[in-house]
Amino acid sequence: MFGTVLRFCFLGCLLFLLTNCKVVEYKNIYHAVSAEEFNRKPKRVILMIGDGMGLPHITASMYNNGNQTILEAFPVVGLQKCDSADALATDSAAAATAMACGVKTFNQAIGVDLDTVPQTSILIEAGQKGYATGLVTTSSLVHATPAGFYAHSPQRYQYENIALDFLQANIDYAVGGGKKYFDRRDKDERNLYEELESKGTYVSSFLEETFQSTSPNSKRPFVFFTADSEPLPASQGRDYLSSACRSATKYLSARSTDGFFLMIEGAQIDWSGHARNGEELLSEMADFEKAVATVLEFVRKDKETLLIVTADHETGGLTISPNSLPDEDLQLEFASNAHTPQMVPVFATGPGASFFAGIYDNTEIYKKLKVLMGLEQSK
Ligand code: MG
Ligand code: ZN
Repeated sequence: MFGTVLRFCFLGCLLFLLTNCKVVEYKNIYHAVSAEEFNRKPKRVILMIGDGMGLPHITASMYNNGNQTILEAFPVVGLQKCDSADALATDSAAAATAMACGVKTFNQAIGVDLDTVPQTSILIEAGQKGYATGLVTTSSLVHATPAGFYAHSPQRYQYENIALDFLQANIDYAVGGGKKYFDRRDKDERNLYEELESKGTYVSSFLEETFQSTSPNSKRPFVFFTADSEPLPASQGRDYLSSACRSATKYLSARSTDGFFLMIEGAQIDWSGHARNGEELLSEMADFEKAVATVLEFVRKDKETLLIVTADHETGGLTISPNSLPDEDLQLEFASNAHTPQMVPVFATGPGASFFAGIYDNTEIYKKLKVLMGLEQSK
């Protein structure tokens, strides 16, 4: 009887997933980088963050894709420790602050230190030094991960305040949801959508119109709202991440000859972990990996761009069941519906990639980028 109950619970914890989704085949996947290039300073930096993307997520996505992942292209792999100041399991706000600003802070904190003193991010410092700047996310533009790169708030959910910081940040190219925090505000009567337009920014809500209008020669900054609040999951039709990455790299290259800093987030990998939803997890991973492949195409041609792909933390305590067999449905188990304190991988390629080998703290992402981008004197 007890055995039956145990077996029932065990089966209840398993998710049997169909592996018949489309396999993406990568030919000549490895991105070889010369010894000279490895140690050279990059002109452009692209930081891609898979929110909640632990090593098990990457492994599951790899098996689900015929035992291949785009991350095999990267010649350098490191690990980052992602604990926050007040918890081993960080939240996305403290982790974004660590990577963007180089300080350990408390969970929920955006761009402020332990004493709630505002910290300047790598994106803002880059902008001040003449780099073009960009943010692309599958969440809203005011959500914790992107907000860590431009805003200051001891409380991550103060979205309308964070939207005010977005206006001050003068980001050249931004794509994400959250339009209602700009144009239908509860706290004040301001219409930040119109205020962005009156500053000369091209603001749009329409995908085709917008991407066609962002010609590389455009002199105007650009904000594209993909949803009123949070964009849909990939499984329900959200498919702009790769095309936004393609437009962003093209536009930002033309915008400043001094280089650019671009942060791209695959936000909803995390949400599938919270929901213990293996199918969503694989679909969000596939969407993010497709975006990595798109960015890598740009990096291979450009030869001046450092590309880093990492996560802020692991979500879900994901395990691939020991009972999983080759060519059979992948069995995923979740130990938790929360974040876990596991280290997360860092993949790097292009000029300066060698800086990202080894095991280091998440604040080192900021510190390494600062040296590589020549921003040491600005803080
Ligand atoms: Mg996020
Ligand atoms: Zn989360």
